[in-house]
Amino acid sequence: MMKIAVIGAGMAGLTLARALNNRAEVTLFDKSRGVGGRLSTRRADPFAFDHGAQFFTARSKVFQAVVADLVARGAAARWDARVVDFDGSRRGATQSWDANNAHYVGVPGMNAIGKALAEGLNLQRQTRIETLEAANGGWRLHDDQGRDRGRFDWVVCAAPAEQTAALMPTTFAHHAVIRERRMQPCFALMLGFEQPLLLDFEVARFKNAAISWMAVNSSKPGRNQATSLLVHAAHDWSALHLEDDNHAVITTLTQATGDLLGQDLSHAKHRAVHRWRYAIIDQQDGPPFFLDAERRLAACGDWCIGGRVEAAFQSGHELAKAITQRL
Ligand code: FAD
Repeated sequence: MMKIAVIGAGMAGLTLARALNNRAEVTLFDKSRGVGGRLSTRRADPFAFDHGAQFFTARSKVFQAVVADLVARGAAARWDARVVDFDGSRRGATQSWDANNAHYVGVPGMNAIGKALAEGLNLQRQTRIETLEAANGGWRLHDDQGRDRGRFDWVVCAAPAEQTAALMPTTFAHHAVIRERRMQPCFALMLGFEQPLLLDFEVARFKNAAISWMAVNSSKPGRNQATSLLVHAAHDWSALHLEDDNHAVITTLTQATGDLLGQDLSHAKHRAVHRWRYAIIDQQDGPPFFLDAERRLAACGDWCIGGRVEAAFQSGHELAKAITQRL
């Protein structure tokens, strides 16, 4: 059997590894302690925050089948939130999400998705792959501790574009294209409260403001936790303040959120921020993955298609089909 290394255990890498698992000997590497990449949850007892992806939708039949299975296993559930749009400080009416376009979340946290999808896979966590070295028609991987992680016939990188460009050898046929892809940063502000907040919606979307999104995280299905708010800063604001210190970012974003919601949020018991350097990418026109059959190297991820969980799934799914034909 061919040996395949998949670097990155987000939705794209997990999808690919699951599809190839019975056809090849697949090893999945991720630098994090957890699994799922940007499908992530941070706990700060008694609070919990999905600080990356907020929800996902499923448009294709094949992804709908995966989501249905996750729901049946209790790892995902539909989230029907009340939503309000703001333009600057002007507030729109409270509305429901389109009933025909279901929004899903992981249960009890977004990271439940990665955990469920990783079941049965050979996953090496806390392993940051740093170099690929050509070895007998394949590739030898080394981690950031200088350890040899083995020789593989195929290597697939399923990390964000910038990290893929840094990791893949420049001989990779698509290296020049990938190097040009730019993902936008995003700050995630996490606020925990001892008392429920008085809000007549669970989600607020903002235009022309420092923040772009606010969700009452604790209102998502299966949470049953102390009141938590998750706020995303706008991408242009995040880019402008990317190197600011955490305290300044927390103070400014807490104030901005409070002003827009008309609530004093300064009494939050828990306040923290996460800096996503590679959060999201605009819709792309190119192929859904990059494959160099001669060198047996490939790359996939949401950044091939657009910044959505389903895009990451589609990229991993399509690449698995292309590699299967070559095994
Ligand atoms: P990732 O999830 O980033 O996975 C890549 C993995 O590679 C990571 O686990 C990382 O640790 C690992 N890695 C990187 N380099 C190395 C290395 N050298 N060695 C080993 N491992 C490595 N999508 C939606 O559909 N709806 C939303 O509401 C939504 N909101 C979002 C909000 C934010 C703030 C962010 C950040 C993203 C959001 N997204 C949303 C996008 C969604 O999260 C992504 O499209 C999707 O999760 C990407 O999956 P992926 O597998 O391509 O990449």
